[in-house]
Amino acid sequence: MRWPADYHTHTPLCRHASGEPGEYAARALALGLAEIGFSDHSPMQRDDFDNWRMRLDQLDEYVEKVRRAQRDFPNLTVRLALEVDYLPGHQEWIRCLAARHPWDYFIGSVHYVSDSWAVDNPEHIGNWKTRDAFDVWSVYFDRLGEAAESGLFEIVGHADLPKKFRIYPAQDCAPLFDRFLDRAAKSGVTLELNTAGLRKDCREIYPSRPFLQRAALRKIPITFGSDAHAPAEVGADFAAAVDLARSVGYGQWRRFAGRKFADAPL
Ligand SMILES: [Zn+2]
Ligand SMILES: [Zn+2]
Repeated sequence: MRWPADYHTHTPLCRHASGEPGEYAARALALGLAEIGFSDHSPMQRDDFDNWRMRLDQLDEYVEKVRRAQRDFPNLTVRLALEVDYLPGHQEWIRCLAARHPWDYFIGSVHYVSDSWAVDNPEHIGNWKTRDAFDVWSVYFDRLGEAAESGLFEIVGHADLPKKFRIYPAQDCAPLFDRFLDRAAKSGVTLELNTAGLRKDCREIYPSRPFLQRAALRKIPITFGSDAHAPAEVGADFAAAVDLARSVGYGQWRRFAGRKFADAPL
């Protein structure tokens, strides 16, 4: 079979990934992938915002690293992208980033549920003890809905990320999913199937099957991403992700180039 593209990969510039883009590209080719995209954590306006992303003065170097992989691997389609954090008030900054280079797509991700707490950061796992889990999930999905509606992103990343550490609210989260998915469907944004969840405590693709079933009913398009932070993780568990997508009714995935889309059969 022809694999869908792996649209979510990182580089060492984010300070918590290893391997150069060329090594990721070589791994993709070895697996039989035809297309990958680099989507490293985008810089913030202030470099001291946190310590797990490239600095602003490294953005050009990042683009050059990806361009080098494009030149060195002419048989592989290599896309230039960013995983951009969505926080309320950052819209202007994200527009500014968008204007700097000819990106193929932006993945909009919510990690932060406050200005200082990223829900997936193991160093801040203690915060879950001080906040009600349903409250955290609610804030998260409100922000994710805002990200979808902002028009700043082609793709919404790892949609049910708060499940990472298996800290689930007692309440039924289906209404949160539905409210977000209605906003996503209306905005035309694409949803990412992210296999990194299988490598975390939750042991599940982001998003979960019940979530993806609800997305499929609304005909929300999908992409695939390994969220590779090392070359060996490129294309990880794509067979499981494709099976999951097909099992809830998907027959297509969405490609991006120059921030425009085209659909491909799955
Ligand atoms: Zn990362
Ligand atoms: Zn992420």
